Amino acid sequence: MGLTIGVDVGGTKIAAGVVDEQGAILARTRVPTPADPQWAVGAIADAIKELRGQYPDVEAVGVGAPGYVDRARSTVLMAPNIDWENEPLKVRIEDLVDLPTVIENDANSAAWGEFRFGAGAEYEDMVLITVGTGIGGGIVLDGRLHRGAFGVAGEIGHINMIPDGLLCGCGKHGCWEQYGSGRALRRYGRERAAADPVRGKRMLELNEGVAETIRGVHITQAAEEGDPLALECYDELADWLGRGLADLAASFDPSVFVLGGGVADSGELLRAPVAKSFEKYVVGGPHRPRADITLATMGSEAGIAGAADLARV
Ligand SMILES: [Zn+2]
Repeated sequence: MGLTIGVDVGGTKIAAGVVDEQGAILARTRVPTPADPQWAVGAIADAIKELRGQYPDVEAVGVGAPGYVDRARSTVLMAPNIDWENEPLKVRIEDLVDLPTVIENDANSAAWGEFRFGAGAEYEDMVLITVGTGIGGGIVLDGRLHRGAFGVAGEIGHINMIPDGLLCGCGKHGCWEQYGSGRALRRYGRERAAADPVRGKRMLELNEGVAETIRGVHITQAAEEGDPLALECYDELADWLGRGLADLAASFDPSVFVLGGGVADSGELLRAPVAKSFEKYVVGGPHRPRADITLATMGSEAGIAGAADLARV
């Protein structure tokens, strides 16, 4: 199969591209996600039609949707950010654009993009961890995307870390993403700066002296400058991430963990302490071969390229 279209549907924007077999994005478009869930389907179809106008020989479409997608890659069971429930997205898009279409979870699509064309390309078994506002993930085992019996595998951000811990957006308490995400990093910065304004001086300076609204960018900038308190925030984040990776290694034994998402844009500042923490928590001692821990290389293109490639398989 030659060219396909990949669509990455987010809560705020829909990004789409024409992708070739090597994962190169030849053309792209981007529109805001309409507030009305029914209009969102039309907006996705319009983006596909626009791209098809430029490349009339595209053969199929892959759509990465932010929610649970059934194993048949057809129906969005639940997408809280778009208010879809049992949305027959495949059928509705095919009706509008007249191209074979598959639907996949957005994080799975991004994982597949990194696996095929990015940081996971040299490996057979990979777990992608996207560290953004929350934690997302995608699992590739023996060269195949692991969807699970019901299509909803890889929701690793909601692994329970702390019994009766912090309330999560999913309604449960103590999920991993409450401790190992960008939102958690922000909390670590705010708490530390408020508790110790002397050591928190640099982070406070970057936010006009206000601890309560310190953001990730302030913590990252201070950490990059070598500020000890900001580095402690990163260490705490990395400690939680390494714990989770150790659990995932116990379950899936991947050859590589790929760190993606907005927080991973800080590069070695995140990767190095996560690798150290993983080493501390992983079971098996010196007899266990260690998975590599590496940074995603495709950024926001992973979702588009991955969804487009999944339309081929
Ligand atoms: Zn949760």
